[in-house]
Amino acid sequence: MLAAAATSPSTTATHCPYCALQCGMNLRPAQDPQGGVEVVERTDFPVNRGALCGKGRTAPAVLSSHVRLTGPLIRNHATGALEPAGWEEALRAVADGLRRTRETYGPDGVGVFGGGGLTNEKAYSLGKFARLVLGTSQIDYNGRFCMSSAAAAHTRAFGVDRGMPFPLEDVPRSGCVILVGSNIAETMPPALRYLTELKENGGRLVVIDPRRTRTAEQADLHLAPRPGTDLALALGLLHLVVAEGRVDEDYVRERTTGWEEARAAAMSHWPAMVERLTGVPVPQLRETVRMFCDADSAMVLTARGPEQQAKGTDTVGAWINLCLATGRPGRPHSGYGCLTGQGNGQGGREHGQKADQLPGYRKLDDPAARAHVAAVWGVDPDVLPGPGRSAYELLDALGRDVKALLVMGSNPVVSAPRAGHVEDRLRSLDFLAVADVVLSETAALADVVLPVTQWAEETGTMTNLEGRVLLRRRALTPPEGVRSDLEVMHALAGRLGWEKGFPTDPEEVFDELRRASAGGLADYSGISYRRIAEEDGVFWPCPGPDHPGTPRLFLDRFATPDGRARFVPVTHRPAGEEPDDAYPVILTTGRVVSHYQSGAQTRRVAELNAAAPEPFVELHPRLAERVGVADGEPVAVVSRRGRAVAPARLTTAIRPDTVFMPFHWYGEGRANTLTNPALDPTSKMPEFKVCAVRLEPVTPNDPAPSDG
Ligand code: SF4
Repeated sequence: MLAAAATSPSTTATHCPYCALQCGMNLRPAQDPQGGVEVVERTDFPVNRGALCGKGRTAPAVLSSHVRLTGPLIRNHATGALEPAGWEEALRAVADGLRRTRETYGPDGVGVFGGGGLTNEKAYSLGKFARLVLGTSQIDYNGRFCMSSAAAAHTRAFGVDRGMPFPLEDVPRSGCVILVGSNIAETMPPALRYLTELKENGGRLVVIDPRRTRTAEQADLHLAPRPGTDLALALGLLHLVVAEGRVDEDYVRERTTGWEEARAAAMSHWPAMVERLTGVPVPQLRETVRMFCDADSAMVLTARGPEQQAKGTDTVGAWINLCLATGRPGRPHSGYGCLTGQGNGQGGREHGQKADQLPGYRKLDDPAARAHVAAVWGVDPDVLPGPGRSAYELLDALGRDVKALLVMGSNPVVSAPRAGHVEDRLRSLDFLAVADVVLSETAALADVVLPVTQWAEETGTMTNLEGRVLLRRRALTPPEGVRSDLEVMHALAGRLGWEKGFPTDPEEVFDELRRASAGGLADYSGISYRRIAEEDGVFWPCPGPDHPGTPRLFLDRFATPDGRARFVPVTHRPAGEEPDDAYPVILTTGRVVSHYQSGAQTRRVAELNAAAPEPFVELHPRLAERVGVADGEPVAVVSRRGRAVAPARLTTAIRPDTVFMPFHWYGEGRANTLTNPALDPTSKMPEFKVCAVRLEPVTPNDPAPSDG
């Protein structure tokens, strides 16, 4: 139960530390002799109107000194143990480790790995720190694993990437929503009300997911394609749109380019062929087209299902083509949107921690962009390195080309694909430093661990899945032994020769970010802390203090040079790894309601851990019978990369050719031990959502799981 809405002046209005919905909440001093804060309902924030999921409600538990880091740790290489250290000693060790590596191997011998949960200020400073202080091109972040395919497809079609080009409040006003590969009932439960209201308003809901999830149960129509075939499915729908004369010819002529090529590509995907590829019957394809085209307004929302594939960019592109052909983007309560996952998945990809990017969504290989940002930073553009490796490529290069790594706000030992291999690469480094709030599985491998402040202990901006820039406010004093990420970067920069340029005050950093983003695609120059506080957040682009912000994009034109959206012709191709005799089953992965991403925080919350204490393997009873495993018994899942073991959970809500594992855990049940790092050629997104596995019953004498 949440405490009732508060009126106390000691109450602080802020936002949840976890997902991209960034639910509003109030914090007030806890009625507890041990201090801390408690969550109080905040009904004035429009996105969640007071509702929170269990993760948000219990978030203060991670602030407790029982579960978090409260002082730096340095590895004693004689004993192998991490031992408490002072800040001076720890910062000196990190600066020395980074400097030594740079001097020995050159600037690109040092890597930086950021996170989609970092505030805009931290993400901005981290990109600046890597490129100026370290001089390295080797920086990327875990958001590459989250939304990069949708971002790439957005940019290709619309000229700009904002996950949702319209606010969530448009969803219930639409006539039809196709939700592709998103289980929002578990990933962001307060958002489910938008779908409930859609149906109450008479709108239709189509959910596409290989599992009959709690979200799919809400649907008027649930399509359950074989994992890895969403691209074929979208093409089959577009084929039917053309065949049934449902193309919006005026819109296509006036607002788009490239239709003929995209149409020709779709027309080679006959419905019967699409049924064979996807397993979705033709009548369901026709019914989907009927619902979508009969509605005056309609939208497609995608999430990780279609995006985390080695063809994710083309898959999202196919869904965008469907929306364009039917005249949806830029019209009321219509269009295409991506439901970003991580807390700052949107802002984290706009301001410079991505391998190819400078602040304001500028491209690192664009001379004008380099000149603009270099001027803000007071350096010659030539000192800025070029684009670096993408996240998995960077992790794969550790110990070989990249000898030292600074990790901030990420836990790739659990969250990266082929995680056993990534763990080996991390262990092979000459030097690893990790800044985190808890001793994550990645921090446990570090030479130096720097404990940092959390959401409720610091101020900073986040950009939610709608493109709404929000302000998280400090509500309590952090423990003495921790420092903010901005303080860490300031201190390290100073030790590496940059006395200036890395302020510790978040508002000062944000003001610099505004200047750096001015004129870019993600223009924050008109946004201020004061405005955010007064206006329930401000939607970018917001190019001036008098600009109202932009809740809805594309009303008049797209962000392309000619103002038209671009169809991109795409065709179906197989997954990076298809089932065969040795690995005959498909593994897909995802989340459960009680945990967030790698679980580093939520696994430390007693209530959440009690609700979901361990991983599991969800499979159909027919498959279970073939394998010889009963409900609750351990089952081994084996891929070409390793073996994981978890209890079987039998359900008819999943396709008989597919198993599902949640990816929040380390150890023998680590799902990402199995996943395939095949990369999308455009976005470099790994193929988390589909790989080939075999199942084996587990006997007491079985060997321990191995990671390849
Ligand atoms: Fe936090 Fe997301 Fe849950 Fe909202 S839905 S309370 S933002 S985890």
